[in-house]
Amino acid sequence: MTQSFIQEEAGRVDVDTRRRSARTKVKLLVHGVKDDRGLFGELPLFKEEHYAYDNGNWGVEAGRLVPSEVLLPGGIVCKIHIRPSSPLSLRQSKSGLAVEQNGEVLCEAAVLPRPRFWDHTTKAGTPTKRLAHFYGATCINFNIYSGCQFYVVGKPCQFCSVQPTQELHGGVVIRKTAADLADTCALAVQNDRVEWFLATGGSYLNGDVEFEAHIQVLQAVREHLPWGGRLRGNLSLMPPKTLSRLDELHRMGVDHPSFNLEAWPRNAFERICPGKAEYVGFDHIMAAYDRVVELYGPGRAWCNFVAGLVPLEDQMDGFTALAERGVIPGANVYHPDVNSPFGDSISSPSEDYIVRLYRHAAELYHRFGYKPFFDSAVLRNSLANEAYEDLL
Ligand code: SF4
Repeated sequence: MTQSFIQEEAGRVDVDTRRRSARTKVKLLVHGVKDDRGLFGELPLFKEEHYAYDNGNWGVEAGRLVPSEVLLPGGIVCKIHIRPSSPLSLRQSKSGLAVEQNGEVLCEAAVLPRPRFWDHTTKAGTPTKRLAHFYGATCINFNIYSGCQFYVVGKPCQFCSVQPTQELHGGVVIRKTAADLADTCALAVQNDRVEWFLATGGSYLNGDVEFEAHIQVLQAVREHLPWGGRLRGNLSLMPPKTLSRLDELHRMGVDHPSFNLEAWPRNAFERICPGKAEYVGFDHIMAAYDRVVELYGPGRAWCNFVAGLVPLEDQMDGFTALAERGVIPGANVYHPDVNSPFGDSISSPSEDYIVRLYRHAAELYHRFGYKPFFDSAVLRNSLANEAYEDLL
């Protein structure tokens, strides 16, 4: 049987090496790395940040290429966030790159290769880089709408930078067509290694309109992906007003739908995500999860949070509440985004917060028989897989 990317990479090293990679990832997600104009300018071709929806690269001007992620030994991929004040830096080493903290090498690293499908255009002539990218090593990822109507009414999620990122970098087509996305998926499968799928919003004020846009795209792309009509991965959206429509996701073969709450408890959700709270509503999202658990059974729907915006105990309670409801909880580590409403007013959580939170998640996964999202070569902003594998 063919091995997956993560199996190949994990098989190359011993468990202590993977532990060192996981601990380095904790630090990278907490602190980011220093900018290094010279190094990034000299590296051979790499997968550059493509600015589809967020921008955690402080001081990086439009048009300058910086690595999107690094691959640490053992198949552990970590997002790069450029922060001038970080104690961490990347430097060239004999075998590639190394991550160092105050001059001490933490572990080796490598940039990910530039996706080959980016050298192509769709039948309509759109460059595919303006449509999709790889999330981590092997997950084809696009935003159907790289904007969000919650911005239009002045109620974006406070950590989010989807609109200002497009204003600053203009990296992608904001409203993508189903035909362009179908061509892009076909090109990615032909040219690169696709093991997972991730499609996301932005949101519309009317959830039924958002839902319909997703369904049209799913119909167009699923036959071009390598799983016989199944969508191996995640569709992240706000639930439709008409909850009975959720059955269509199941029929479309979506493995793991998610309606991300981002913050817990309800009052934090309402404060941090005012658009989602007003136009969708906490209770509606929970009702949508109940419907999906009925359809799929427990342990299939995902709910993502932004780790570090609320006290640790609250975030742990949120994980527990979702897990007990039949939903797998996960989180991306909070990183300040350029020109988001929060800006740099809030720091990323401490290393201790992250390690304790993801250990709690792992305990829930094992207790309920759940699996964390994707794998450690894909889930670049989270330590859920590393905790599940007891690497933290
Ligand atoms: S729903 Fe929130 S996180 Fe998603 S694009 Fe809109 S503002 Fe950003």
